[in-house]
Amino acid sequence: MSDEIKKEEESLNFLEEIIEQDLSAGKYPSIVTRFPPEPNGYLHLGHASSICLNFGLTRKYPGYTNLRFDDTNPVTEETEYVDSIKEDVKWLGFEWKHERYASDYFDTLYEYAVKLIEKGLAYVDDSTSEQMAAMKGTPTEPGVNSPYRDRTIEENLDLFTRMKAGEFPDGSHTLRAKIEMAHINMLMRDPILYRIKHAHHHRTGDKWCIYPMYDFAHGQSDSIEEVTHSICTLEFVPHRELYDWLIEKLDIYPSHQYEFARRNINYTVTSKRKLLQLVNEQYVEGWDDPRMPTISGLRRRGYTPESIRDFCDRIGVAKRENMVDVGLLEFCVREHLNKIALRRMVVFDPVKVVITNYTGEGEMLSSENNPEDENGGTRQIPFSGELYIEREDFMENPPKKYFRLAPGQMVRLKSAYIIKCEQVIKDEEGQVKELQCTYIPESKSGADTSGIHVKGTLHWVSVKHAVRAEVRLYDRLFKVEDPTDEEGDFKEYLNPLSLQVLPAVYAEPDLLHASLQERYQFIRKGYFVLDKSSNPDQLIFNRTVGLKDAWAKEVKKG
Ligand code: ATP
Ligand code: MG
Repeated sequence: MSDEIKKEEESLNFLEEIIEQDLSAGKYPSIVTRFPPEPNGYLHLGHASSICLNFGLTRKYPGYTNLRFDDTNPVTEETEYVDSIKEDVKWLGFEWKHERYASDYFDTLYEYAVKLIEKGLAYVDDSTSEQMAAMKGTPTEPGVNSPYRDRTIEENLDLFTRMKAGEFPDGSHTLRAKIEMAHINMLMRDPILYRIKHAHHHRTGDKWCIYPMYDFAHGQSDSIEEVTHSICTLEFVPHRELYDWLIEKLDIYPSHQYEFARRNINYTVTSKRKLLQLVNEQYVEGWDDPRMPTISGLRRRGYTPESIRDFCDRIGVAKRENMVDVGLLEFCVREHLNKIALRRMVVFDPVKVVITNYTGEGEMLSSENNPEDENGGTRQIPFSGELYIEREDFMENPPKKYFRLAPGQMVRLKSAYIIKCEQVIKDEEGQVKELQCTYIPESKSGADTSGIHVKGTLHWVSVKHAVRAEVRLYDRLFKVEDPTDEEGDFKEYLNPLSLQVLPAVYAEPDLLHASLQERYQFIRKGYFVLDKSSNPDQLIFNRTVGLKDAWAKEVKKG
């Protein structure tokens, strides 16, 4: 191993450095992290990066990770999302220690709020949201104190109790922290802690009509769970001051917040809100449409958990936002699938080959499942006198160094024989209808005594044994790198060619037994997986990724 590679492997990211220091200084005997999704959509690749980071740290260091649903907003959250999030985290290969819900802490949070009021550090404000905005000031001008700021503790306790009891309509009162209206950090200008919302919650039902704001629930939930390292994305940097203020004033477990850069991936969007629009407005089939950057979409597309974890490891953690090339994700899945995918033969656009000197009924030929896996075993493929090959693998007037089939030219059929094209038969329109060939009986793969060497090897299927299948070819969801950075609505930049359906391709019969758990390489075509809607009468395969990076080539061509 060269020194450089070794160094790369041993170098720590900034969070690992902090944790190693904390552990060696004896600040904590072990660490606790959490992954805190809001259950208002399905998880996407950005979340995958946060999951790999949080769970990865407690895999590497002593400690554990909680899964905490940040369900403080009753209106947007649904049980369907909770279930999908759990399934996705498990599928990615991680186990949480405790499954928790911010809503489990509503009673405790309420007590914390009362404690702040009793300390004179929170007050009930009757201002409307417009009035509050007007008093907030600007980054360069201080704000103005609310006329309700100096209410007595008794008055505040009474009003807050009545807010909880449902005496007031939505928007009429809020509970605010009493910090400083001239604070340089706008988030410290008496932030709202509680608002009234007469809404049904997916877990607490109708018990509450006041709900804590994000800033009042998040850090406090961290403390309740004794999270040591609370990792979030950079937009929360300005919130850290409030996070620390609340922990200090409440005198609760001192969790610490650390921020890393959000991961954005080109040619797609990673925002639940935007993905929800694509689902609701039916630009895609659903959250698990194989073009979606969701974990469930990637799973249906044939991505493996290993390849997604590898991708997240390679992009690592950064302190500055940047765009990650989706080509890296495709590279990672290609690498993994090359090792595990079963090789199969499928002809997409067939032309018939008749082997005029093949007199037998047919025979079974053996072919290895995966040359990259010595324990991969073999399968049987039926061979006969009538075959399909790919139309694009024949050329009537080939250029020099054309190693596929052409009049008078020989090729090898994969795991079968060498054939020679003797005659081309065309229909009335001049389209090639049939290729009449002869085969070399001594050239059987594995027992070739013909002494003939050919350069081209083609995939094929036997006409009478082939099974029909539908194939869905996916491409990037958007035609521009960053659809949110363009003029107008991001949906105007959807790639109209992101899905191409081939309703009838010809597959070797073994694929009748294809299963959702397996991955396949259709030889010379790409990597494929069975779709969940497939059945033996109507086989459907999704293309995960092509064999080569077609886009990189495009870019080079210019
Ligand atoms: P979205 O904008 O898609 O709704 P979010 O940040 O609001 O994302 P949450 O459910 O609140 O989604 O996020 C759960 C965790 O995942 C948070 O810790 C958040 O920081 C992290 N996360 C979300 N998106 C990304 C991303 N693109 N890159 C890295 N981490 C992310
Ligand atoms: Mg969110």
